[in-house]
Amino acid sequence: MRILKIQTLRGPNYWSIRRHKLIVMRLDLETLAETPSNEIPGFYEGLVEALPSLEGHYCSPGCHGGFLMRVREGTMMGHIVEHVALELQELAGMHVGFGRTRETATPGIYQVVIEYLNEEAGRYAGRAAVRLCQSIVDRGRYPKAELEQDIQDLKDLWRDASLGPSTEAIVKEAEKRGIPWMQLSARFLIQLGYGVNHKRMQATMTDKTGILGVELACDKEATKRILAASGVPVPRGTVINFLDDLEEAIEYVGGYPIVIKPLDGNHGRGITIDIRSWEEAEAAYEAARQVSRSIIVERYYVGRDHRVLVVDGKVVAVAERVPAHVIGNGRSTVAELIEEINQDPNRGDGHDKVLTKIELDRTSYQLLERAGYTLNSVPPKGTICYLRATANLSTGGTAVDRTDEIHPENVWLAQRVVKIIGLDIAGLDIVTTDISRPLRELDGVIVEVNAAPGFRMHVAPSQGIPRNVAGAVMDMLFPNEQSGRIPILSVTGTNGKTTTTRLLAHIYKQTGKVVGYTTTDGTYIGDYLVESGDNTGPQSAHVILQDPTVEVAVLETARGGILRSGLGFESANVGVVLNVAADHLGIGDIDTIDQLANLKSVVAESVYPDGYAVLNADDRRVAAMAEKTKANIAYFTMNSESELVRKHIQKGGVAAVYENGYLSIVKGDWTHRIERAEQIPLTMGGRAPFMIANALAASLAAFVQNVSIEQIRAGLRTFRASVSQTPGRMNLFNLGNYHALVDYAHNPASYEAVGAFVRNWTSGQRIGVVGGPGDRRDEDFVTLGKLAAEIFDYIIVKEDDDTRGRPRGSASELITKGITQVKPDARYESILDETQAINKGLDMAPANGLVVILPESVSRAIKLIKLRGLVKEEIQQQ
Ligand code: ATP
Ligand code: ATP
Ligand code: MG
Ligand code: MG
Repeated sequence: MRILKIQTLRGPNYWSIRRHKLIVMRLDLETLAETPSNEIPGFYEGLVEALPSLEGHYCSPGCHGGFLMRVREGTMMGHIVEHVALELQELAGMHVGFGRTRETATPGIYQVVIEYLNEEAGRYAGRAAVRLCQSIVDRGRYPKAELEQDIQDLKDLWRDASLGPSTEAIVKEAEKRGIPWMQLSARFLIQLGYGVNHKRMQATMTDKTGILGVELACDKEATKRILAASGVPVPRGTVINFLDDLEEAIEYVGGYPIVIKPLDGNHGRGITIDIRSWEEAEAAYEAARQVSRSIIVERYYVGRDHRVLVVDGKVVAVAERVPAHVIGNGRSTVAELIEEINQDPNRGDGHDKVLTKIELDRTSYQLLERAGYTLNSVPPKGTICYLRATANLSTGGTAVDRTDEIHPENVWLAQRVVKIIGLDIAGLDIVTTDISRPLRELDGVIVEVNAAPGFRMHVAPSQGIPRNVAGAVMDMLFPNEQSGRIPILSVTGTNGKTTTTRLLAHIYKQTGKVVGYTTTDGTYIGDYLVESGDNTGPQSAHVILQDPTVEVAVLETARGGILRSGLGFESANVGVVLNVAADHLGIGDIDTIDQLANLKSVVAESVYPDGYAVLNADDRRVAAMAEKTKANIAYFTMNSESELVRKHIQKGGVAAVYENGYLSIVKGDWTHRIERAEQIPLTMGGRAPFMIANALAASLAAFVQNVSIEQIRAGLRTFRASVSQTPGRMNLFNLGNYHALVDYAHNPASYEAVGAFVRNWTSGQRIGVVGGPGDRRDEDFVTLGKLAAEIFDYIIVKEDDDTRGRPRGSASELITKGITQVKPDARYESILDETQAINKGLDMAPANGLVVILPESVSRAIKLIKLRGLVKEEIQQQ
């Protein structure tokens, strides 16, 4: 077996609208192409031995053991690789359930589709599955050590990809609320929402969190001073820089017990609490010096440690944090008890799990010693042995929810403190013996205010009720159930995408909104180009959706991008499908026009249920997409008699119709005439029917988004298909006594479209300079020839400079074949060189004639035309 290609999908795609995270592996079964599993000796046994848990896969028989039954009876290796890849991820703790396997048009080559949670792990699992199956085929087994290594690698990939518990809680809550999110490329930034409505977070800091508040909170001494000046109870203490000052400082805070900590530390690093002697104090001073130059000396306050979380001015959760400890059972030693606790699957390293493993340090031994134990003592049943002095979860502590117990006066105090420091999200560390009584009564203190507090003790406390603190953050960032989205209008089809996208963006601009749009020529925001290039894939969509100025996104969505990585967004408000025609067939395992329709249908199917799929009623395959989408339907048609549209309107639907020379919106009993086609420059005075169709689609897409008829009209009237705006799309030049038209038509459907315009050219002879990209199929060139014979009075057949692997002369021969098939007496000649062919066409142009150039290089063609002297670009004026 050989993996030919691995693709990673990250959005709605050809295989599934709902499952966005899929790996597509193109797999050549090679020698196994004709050997089902039952014909490979020992394969079934070897597979069951390596992965007994495959028993749990139902597969098509729909019952426990169903998949293994198929392996025993005989199934193809691609299918087995799929199940193995899923199972490997499962064994590494990633729950994935979706898979598909299909043979491509090339026998023996399969597409294996598997779901992933982490894309690197998904690709790894795909490759490992091929390795595993091949090993069983060759040797009857897969070594246990290798399997273990695979699973460990997968676990590591999964762990490294984890966002951390706080961010995890936030994005989960965002998903629940339908707020889209994405990871930005730097600094662990998370974007919630799109465009102008997006908000950013980094861990639990938001883009509203003030820098002054953060800096103040990070300076413990300054925090205490500011709070003390407001009458807030804080520990009595002082800051020193030399050991010589320690004695005096201890006296100042009122003698032992004391606390020593670094001035700017966190996570409990370098802190010693409950210091009772000079020796301990000296050691603690040294420990704190490891972390910070300046040292805080404080009175030690007896009590329990609480974390009070304040979001947007309100206390949303309270947790009591208990330092790492073990409880004796009368049998095990302290060391054994620690070992046992660390086995808990909820305990991980650092912050990646709900709890952290207990690790011993200097204070652990001191605490044990004070309690009269060593690691080898056996504490009596029920005795608590503390192993850490501070309760930070990151040193193995646990948390108990106390949200319902905090005293209202403490709530008031906490909220006031956070206002004084100036933070939108803050965690207060409060030491007091009982949080359900006012601090002042118990000599409790606020030890510290934390910016960017961790959420995990609240969302996953070891005891008590989990609190949805991420919900409070979302309420603050997106009040009144805002979704953070901006309207997304996605445009697909075989022909006319760029034109329709540009026109739609132009219409939308009439509303005064900032429109971001992507096309085959580049990405634009408002009136400016952001970057040029073929930007019709998900990455370009992200440029628009991440932009803080964009209010509306209009995205040309091409076949290639959907196939390579899926849509760059989860759902659109409007999905326009213009047409489906033969083009690019045979590329990317899309071999038939129906498969192509299924691919383009992803755009229609990914529309929100309350949005609109704008569909071409005149194209059978596009109209049929209505059955597949959950969205509302809006049809456009060039045929005012369309039965489909008539019925749709009767049922209360909306449509855009070309009737009596007008582009109109029809809704219910009413026809809203937008404009006469003749008045719309893009339609070349109404002579280019396909442009009318594009204009109908754009108008309808705008209309269902509540753009007014007046604004749509203004947009249609002012949009010009000029060379500068839309190079290569129906650019008509007036050369004095004849005209030249440059168009980038390169497939049969667009030839037809241009043909409709050319046929309307009745003033003189029509000359065509034609050719097509070399990577199309032979029959496509023949079709082009046939169409050209019907459209032009004289044909010059040329080839592209870049023949895309085809031998020179082959394309022109095929086109010629097509021409003579339909018109044996057709007038034509072959000039392979594009420049020469164009020049010949222009040289022979008769009076009032039209030279239609379908070039490889639009800019070169336009240059050649302009060399002919004073040229006026023809724009239809109203
Ligand atoms: P984190 O940032 O993880 O909250 P930190 O390193 O910033 O920790 P502090 O919050 O200042 O350190 O102290 C850690 C813990 O030590 C406190 O939550 C509290 O339990 C205890 N502690 C600190 N100062 C005192 C004190 N003066 N009296 C009693 N306990 C204290
Ligand atoms: P690409 O796949 O190259 O990005 P596109 O779908 O973006 O193409 P446009 O650039 O808008 O299409 O138009 C390319 C050519 O297709 C036009 O110049 C015209 O010849 C033809 N065309 C445009 N609209 C239609 C249509 N609705 N039906 C058929 N052909 C069309
Ligand atoms: Mg703290
Ligand atoms: Mg395009």
